[in-house]
Amino acid sequence: MKKYDIIIIGAGLGGLSIGAMLAKKDKKVLVLEKHYQVGGYATNFKRGDFIFDASLHATGGVKKTDYHKILKKCGVFEKIKFIKLPEIYTSIFPDFKFTFKNGDIEQVKKDLIVKFPKEKIGIKLWFYFIKKINKENKLWQKYKNFIVFIAPIIIPILMFSHKIPLSFFLNLAIRDKKLKALLTQLWPYWGLPPKKLASQYFLIPAYGYFYDGAYYLKGGAQIFSNAFREVIEENNGVVQTSIEVIEILVKNEKAIGVKTKDGNIYFADKIISNVSPFLVYENFLSKWKDSQKELEKIKKMELSISATQFYFGLDTSIVNLNPKFKNAYEVFVNLTYDYDKIYREFLIPSFKREYLSFNMTFYSNIDSGLAPINKSVMSIIVGDNYERWKNLSNNEYKIKKKEETEKIIKLAEKYLPELRKHIEVLEVATPKTMKRYTGNPEGAIYGFAQTILQCGF
Ligand SMILES: Cc1cc2nc3c(=O)[nH]c(=O)nc-3n(C[C@H](O)[C@H](O)[C@H](O)COP(=O)(O)OP(=O)(O)OC[C@H]3O[C@@H](n4cnc5c(N)ncnc54)[C@H](O)[C@@H]3O)c2cc1C
Repeated sequence: MKKYDIIIIGAGLGGLSIGAMLAKKDKKVLVLEKHYQVGGYATNFKRGDFIFDASLHATGGVKKTDYHKILKKCGVFEKIKFIKLPEIYTSIFPDFKFTFKNGDIEQVKKDLIVKFPKEKIGIKLWFYFIKKINKENKLWQKYKNFIVFIAPIIIPILMFSHKIPLSFFLNLAIRDKKLKALLTQLWPYWGLPPKKLASQYFLIPAYGYFYDGAYYLKGGAQIFSNAFREVIEENNGVVQTSIEVIEILVKNEKAIGVKTKDGNIYFADKIISNVSPFLVYENFLSKWKDSQKELEKIKKMELSISATQFYFGLDTSIVNLNPKFKNAYEVFVNLTYDYDKIYREFLIPSFKREYLSFNMTFYSNIDSGLAPINKSVMSIIVGDNYERWKNLSNNEYKIKKKEETEKIIKLAEKYLPELRKHIEVLEVATPKTMKRYTGNPEGAIYGFAQTILQCGF
C-alpha cells in the first residue's frame, strides 16, 4: 500500500491551495474529492449553451495584497487571467441608485461626496479605516514575532477589530442612513449585517476591492480550481475525484490514514480535512474517544446563513433587456435601508417573504466566453434558511422551487423587463442543494458565522 506524506480530504479552494503549497515543497500529497470535479463552491457547470459559476462572483486584491502573494506561492497566478470589472457594484434602493467605479478610489470618494456633501469628512474617515487596517495587517504579517507585546499601540485597529462589529466604525464615520447602507452593501458576502459582523472580516477584503480593484476570473471559477490541481499534479501529487472519504483511521491517538466509500484505504503521516468539522467528528472520527466532546463544542456555535441561487441562461443580451446595465456586473436591489430587517427576512423559517433584497450578477457582460454571442448568463442570489426547505416532500419541494422562482422573476422584471420571455435555461439551488454538495449542516454557505463572539485574532 502506497504511503503519502499528507492526505487532504476535500478539493475546495482550502484543500487545493494547501495541497499546491505542500506539493511545491516536495511533499507527497494525495487529495481526495467526492465530487466528479475539483473546486467545491469554486466550480462551474454547463447547461446547453451556457457556462455557470456555481458561487463565485468577484474577487479583490489580486495585485497588492496577501491574496496575490498566496496565489503566487501556490504557483497558480501565472495560470489564470483576471478580468477587471468596469464597476465594483451598483446599489439600487427605493429612492436612489449608486455605482462604485472600479480601480480609482479617489474617484469613488469624489462621487460619494457629490452625492453626500455633508458627509465629506465621514467618507474620508471610512476609507481611512479601510486603508489603516490593511497597513496594520501588513505590519503584523511581516513583524509579528517582534511586535506582539506592543501590538495594541502599533496595530490598534487590527488588534481589536475582530471583537468590534462593523457598525461601530460605520457609526463613528457616517450619520446618513442611506450612505451607511451604501458603504456596507457587500455585507451579504459574509452573511451578517454590520451590527453582527466582526469588522475585520469586512474591512480587510474591502481594501482589496476599493484600492486594488474588483476582478472576475476569466472562464469562471473552474479554471481557477483546475489550475491548483495542475500545480499539485505537476509536483508529483495525486488528485482523485469521485472518491468519498468515510473514515479517518486512528492509531495510538494519531490519524494515520483514511478509508473511502469504495472500500480503499490510504495511509499518510498527516491528514488535513477541508470539509465540515461536523462531518469529521460525527462520521470520519466517530470511533475516536474525544469526538463527542469536540462535537458538543461546535454544536454551540452559530452557523452562517444559507442561500438560494437562480441561474439563468438567456437567449438575449442583458443590454437588450435594459440598456442601463451595459457595464453592470454586480447589482444589489434593496427594498429597504434596514439591513437588520433584511437579515431577519433571510432567517425567518416561513416562505412568506417579500424578498427585501436580492443580488443580480451579469457574468457574460464581463466574460463573453460564458454564453454565445447575443445570449447571456446571469444569476440571482438571496440569503435563505434551511428550515424553509428541509421538511418538504419531493413534490412539495419542486412546487416550492417553482413558486419562489416565480416571485423572484417578477421582482427582477422591474429591472429586466420581459426577462421570463428570454429564459432558455433555468436552474435553482436551494439550501438543500448547498447541504448536499458540501455536507455543511443546514446548508450554511460560509460555515460558522463571523460574529464578534466567534472571531479570533
Ligand atoms: C454563494 C456563494 C458565493 C460566494 N461568492 C464569493 C465571491 O464572489 N468571492 C469570493 O472570494 N468568495 C466567494 N464565496 C466564498 C468561497 O466560495 C468559499 O470561501 C470557498 O470556495 C470555500 O472553499 P473551501 O475549500 O473552504 O470549502 P468547499 O468549497 O465547501 O470545499 C469542500 C470540498 O470538500 C468536498 N467533500 C465534502 N465531503 C467530502 C468527503 N466525505 N470526501 C471527499 N470530499 C468531500 C466537497 O465536495 C467540496 O469540494 C462564495 C461562497 C458562496 C457559497
